[in-house]
This record gives sequence, C-alpha cells and structure tokens, in this order.
Amino acid sequence: GKGAAMVTAVAYRLATQHAERQRILDTLRLSREQLLEVKRRMGEEINRGLAKESHDQATVKMLPTYVRSTPDGTEHGDFLALDLGGTNFRVLLVRVRGGKRRSVEMHNKIYAIPQEAMQGTGEELFDHIVHCIADFLEYMGMKGASLPLGFTFSFPCHQNKLDQGILLKWTKGFKATGCEGEDVVCLLKDAIQRREEFDLDVVAVVNDTVGTMMTCGYEDPLCEVGLIVGTGTNACYMEEMQNVELVEGDEGRMCVNMEWGAFGDHGELDDFSTEFDRAVDDCATNPGKQRYEKMISGMYLGEIVRNVLLEFTAKGLLFRGKLSERLKTRGIFETKFLSQIESDRLALRQVRSILQHLGLTSSTCDDSILVKEVCSVVARRAAQLCGAGLAAVVDKIRQNRNLSELKITVGVDGTLYKLHPHFSSIMHETVRDLAPQCEVTFLQSEDGSGKGAALITAVACRIRDAGQR
Ligand code: BGC
Ligand code: MG
Repeated sequence: GKGAAMVTAVAYRLATQHAERQRILDTLRLSREQLLEVKRRMGEEINRGLAKESHDQATVKMLPTYVRSTPDGTEHGDFLALDLGGTNFRVLLVRVRGGKRRSVEMHNKIYAIPQEAMQGTGEELFDHIVHCIADFLEYMGMKGASLPLGFTFSFPCHQNKLDQGILLKWTKGFKATGCEGEDVVCLLKDAIQRREEFDLDVVAVVNDTVGTMMTCGYEDPLCEVGLIVGTGTNACYMEEMQNVELVEGDEGRMCVNMEWGAFGDHGELDDFSTEFDRAVDDCATNPGKQRYEKMISGMYLGEIVRNVLLEFTAKGLLFRGKLSERLKTRGIFETKFLSQIESDRLALRQVRSILQHLGLTSSTCDDSILVKEVCSVVARRAAQLCGAGLAAVVDKIRQNRNLSELKITVGVDGTLYKLHPHFSSIMHETVRDLAPQCEVTFLQSEDGSGKGAALITAVACRIRDAGQR
C-alpha cells in the first residue's frame, strides 16, 4: 500500500544519504598502500634535501643545526631561554647543575603575543619580545644581569653556525614584515640595543624539535629524534655528517632540522589531499606552503573539520541543511574542541552541548554522531600521515647504521600529541606497522623546547670555556 511505499522511500533516502556521507568521508581515509607511498616519498625528499645538488629544489629542507653533541652531564650555570613559535611565548631562567647532583631547575613566565605584533613589523615584534625579557628579569629580581641565552625560534632557519638563524619563511600564521631573509639573532640584538637597558649573549638559535630531542636526550641517550605535533609539526634527528652535504666534514653526526611541514609543497601529497585541504590552504596566510603541516597540525585540523561540515550542510546531510553564520566563521573549531569531542568518556549528549557552545544550536542527535565521526576521520588521517613520515625517518637512521633492527627513542612535544585522546596511539601504531624493523619508544617531554635551548647553550658554553682555558 501507500504506507509501505513511503517507508521504502524514506529508507531509500536514508540509505543514499548514508552512502553520500561515507563517500565524502572516504576521501579522507588513507589505505596502508597510500601510507607506505607517503613514507617512500618522504624518504626520497629526505635524501634530496640532504644532497647539495638537489637541496635547492627539495621541499624538505633538512637544515643543519650545528648541534653535534648531546649533554654529557658536566655542564652547569644559569641560562636564559626564549621560546617563540608554539602556543605561547615564554621567557625562562634555567639553572643547570652538573656532576652527581645533576639537575635542571626552571622558572618561566608566559607572555601573550598580540596579533598586532605577529602581523605588524619585525621591529614591533622584536621590541615586544625584548619588553617581555625586561619584564621577566625584573620579575626574577635579576635586572641588569647578562646571561648566556638560547633562543628557541620555531620556524625554518638557515644556519651557518649555532648562534645564527636566517629566517627562510614564516609559518603558523606569523607574518611580521622585514624578517624573512634576516638573521633573527641580529633582529633580537638590535631590539636590545634600542631599549638600552641590558645586554645579552645570544649563544644558540634552536628549533623546538631540537630542544625537545635534547631535553629527552638528557634522560635517555637513545633519544636521537625530536618531534613536535602542536600548532605546527616538524621533526629533527641525528644524521651522519657524511650525509649532511651542506656542512664540511665527514666525522660524527649532526642534528638536522627537517622542516617536514613543507613536504607536499611541490605536489607530493596532491593525490592524497582533498578539496577540504585545498580550501584550508587557500585561506591561510601562506597558501601553497606547509601542505603536510596543514594536514596534520593543530592550527589546521579544526578548519579541515569545519570545511567538511560546511560541505555536509550544503548537501543537506547535516544541521537540516541550514548553513549558520557560526559555521561559516573561520577558526571556531579549536584543537581543544576536537580533543573534547573525541574523548571516550563523553556521551553524545555532551558532544551536542559542545556544538551548542560553538553556536551550532540546530543540531540533532544524528548530527552529533556525524560531527564526531568527521573529527575522528580527520584526526586519524593526521596521525597516520605523521606516523608515515616518522617511519621514513627511523628507517633512514636504521639504514645509515646498516642495522637490521634499530632501537631508538623519539622525544615528543606539542599540544595535539599531548591532549588529543587518540592521536598518539594511532601515530605509534602506524610507525610500528610501516617501520617494523625499528623498535621505537616515545618519550614525552616536559617543557622540552625551552629547557633544551638552555641545555644546548650550556653545552656550547662548556665547549667554549674549555677552548679558552
Ligand atoms: C615550523 C617548524 C617548527 C614546527 C613546530 C613549523 O611551522 O616551520 O620550524 O618546528 O612548526 O613548532
Ligand atoms: Mg613549543
């Protein structure tokens, strides 16, 4: 009868809607073969970045850091550290004690970097940084002190020595003018001079990945890789000097800042990325750049999710097809919401209240299920892509050493890695699957980047002092 026909029609509509949703979500799902291909291409880019002749064309820059030795426990003294480029800007005082009572004691203060400073002129940005240092010294009762300083500056920098960092390009929404192509040590020193209040001895410019590796290396000598998955993403590791063609010398190892976030900038990820990734890329401050980072890190995942939700809504598959102003607003999905929505302890009712909190009030129970699924698919892809990249790195280290089995520790930091309920376990599982000959231990660092900069400064001072004796 008529009733049965209606039921069939409804069932049919539901089935097509379901299929349509899954078809869209499938574009965000990667097969094992695809992940293996990502690993292979990353391995290729690593070699191209290291070699002199291909370096200029390579997307993964493999930047020498001039960090060769890890702390040996004898370093000591008081150091200042700056940490710029993560979620917060921080100034730290680090007391390193060597010998038997080996310890690292830290005091730090967090400062906001106002939007104007991030996106104004370089002078404004560095004046603000120096203003924060002055405030910190005063707060610590150390006004006028001139301490050796390690500068964790978490952007791609070309280095010819430890105490230099020529900014190649801003990432993560920074765009202060007049900085690209400049040595950030000079920019900092100029700002210190403008203020005429104190002097600082800038000893090291350090990427956050390198700081993290050093901090974890202080506890675990097997730690020879550093990984950040936070606002941005990147990795570093100890490479054979022989392979670091940009630096003279074949002896020993040097830490290389991979800048893997730029992987994909020459199309290496085009066959895996989606219309949603392109939409996110188009709206960023650096379109066409950091394509791998934009599929993985905290600054972008929420935007990918929002773009998927927009598409679902436009197709009438979500929010009863009603596009709200809220959903059209960039940046409403912070990483912390992604983490909350996927929390296992959360009932759907709570997912719904998070959506309501975001201003997405028309949501039904089905909507909540779908939003959660979108978050989960996007985060899983990010973790797997990151794992595929890391698998390439550890396998490269294993091959460097001609080993059939490698035991290695990766020091990790970053808000997404630490706060997301599933990211880390999916990433670990992917590395295990794609690099089965490596036994990888993950060590989460506490305050890694700032502390690491101080440790690197301490090592440099130890070596410098020994040379002067
Ligand atoms: C930067 C890297 C940094 C990473 C994590 C990226 O955007 O280019 O230098 O290590 O973010 O903070
Ligand atoms: Mg950081």
